Amino acid sequence: MGTRHHTERLDLLDSSVREWDATVLDVDDDNGIVLDRSAFYPGGGGQPPDYGVLLWAGVQTRIEGVRRGDDIRLIPTEGDPVPPVGTVVRGAIEDERRTALMRTHSGLHLLSGVVFRDFGALVTGSNMDPLSGRLDFNLEEVPPGFKEAVEAACNTEVAANRSIQAYELPREQAFEIPDIIRTATNLLPPSIEVVRIVDIEGLDVQADGGTHVASTQQVGEMRVVKVENKGKGFRRIRISLA
Ligand SMILES: [Zn+2]
Repeated sequence: MGTRHHTERLDLLDSSVREWDATVLDVDDDNGIVLDRSAFYPGGGGQPPDYGVLLWAGVQTRIEGVRRGDDIRLIPTEGDPVPPVGTVVRGAIEDERRTALMRTHSGLHLLSGVVFRDFGALVTGSNMDPLSGRLDFNLEEVPPGFKEAVEAACNTEVAANRSIQAYELPREQAFEIPDIIRTATNLLPPSIEVVRIVDIEGLDVQADGGTHVASTQQVGEMRVVKVENKGKGFRRIRISLA
């Protein structure tokens, strides 16, 4: 579509945004709807995309997925009316799902911080649904009482109410943070000049593009559901949130 601007990502600026006004920049039968401003999380880093609606001219377009290519493309429910280019719409995100995903995502970062601090293990994979998720760790030995110890340590950090902040740093500055060297130096292509950081104060710092709650208390009570042995040095920890 030539020279038009890309979508401004409201979700990256403020993860509490649930409703906003926007203008349709592009519509395509196969590729979805592009807005000038969007708070729909497009998926990535293990966090699934948001659901929601666009309201315009007395009708609604349900959004049931987001595709991330050259831009953020909202995928409407089949059969729903689609707003033409230039339409001013009210965007709204399904709050219950998004808030649950924010709590889950922050809970997984908290878990990664606890397991690295107490057991020296690094994350090798992750996945999440609203209120449940798993992290894979590179961990040779699982000591007795591991599951209970991890769960107790997680809930101690929840109760500690550590602040969780997202901010951007120039690449060189980000890569001076030991945690970032540990988790991200090999993942970020050289073309990326600014790194978004998610920082659980005093516990975990990661390069991350997801949406998070503002403090560990907002994660709520965490349960370690299962610790699975998936092969030599490969442990999978499953959590759920209350
Ligand atoms: Zn993350």
